Amino acid sequence: MKQAANARFRDEYRQKEIPRRYCAPCHLLFTFAGGLLAIVLMLWQLQQVQPLEWLVVPAALLYANLAEYFGHRFPMHRPFPGLGLIYKRHAGQHHRFFTHQHMPFDQLRDLCAVLFPPLLVTFFFGGFGVPLWFVLAWLVSDNVAWLALASGVLYYLNYEVFHLAYHLPERHWLARVGLIRRLRWLHAHHHDPAAMTRVNFNISYPLGDWLFGTLERSPAATAALAAVPESRAP
Ligand SMILES: [Zn+2]
Ligand SMILES: [Zn+2]
Repeated sequence: MKQAANARFRDEYRQKEIPRRYCAPCHLLFTFAGGLLAIVLMLWQLQQVQPLEWLVVPAALLYANLAEYFGHRFPMHRPFPGLGLIYKRHAGQHHRFFTHQHMPFDQLRDLCAVLFPPLLVTFFFGGFGVPLWFVLAWLVSDNVAWLALASGVLYYLNYEVFHLAYHLPERHWLARVGLIRRLRWLHAHHHDPAAMTRVNFNISYPLGDWLFGTLERSPAATAALAAVPESRAP
């Protein structure tokens, strides 16, 4: 999408899709303060965790990484019956609002196009998290169920921080942190319309992409990362 078309889409999106009463600080607060509070409340439920029960934490983080990969690769980039809203919001809006040539947001209200809407978050954690809690509590233990859920929310918060950082202006301190700066290039390449249905579906750590052969660094990224070592990055 050319710059002028992208600017037109951004204006149109702001007028039609961002509700007049949209409050970006509230959205940030719901996501990060709400998420952290949920984690604290879940960890509060733990009682005398056995050494083996902790193993659910790496397992849940790995599961979350693959869920991020497959969720992004399929329903977010291909229309599936019943999941049309997710496809429209991601492929139809997020990718048109942010192109590989124009990744940063311009104003705080644009966060509406970056962070997951509270309704979708509630749907995901309510629809998948609650049944998962009951299954794990029934099959293993309450501790394992709480730890798995808390790990899922932690991973989700990590995902939101990283994704937000990829869409910050390039000179922002968070966008310049070594690991984020490298991962940002992968996500920017994913925002290229020619690459978005093919590569870089992990938004946080590219484990799924590595496992399934869809990890790709653009020539521009390779050149930029080689030209400016992290320690001297602008
Ligand atoms: Zn993005
Ligand atoms: Zn995408």
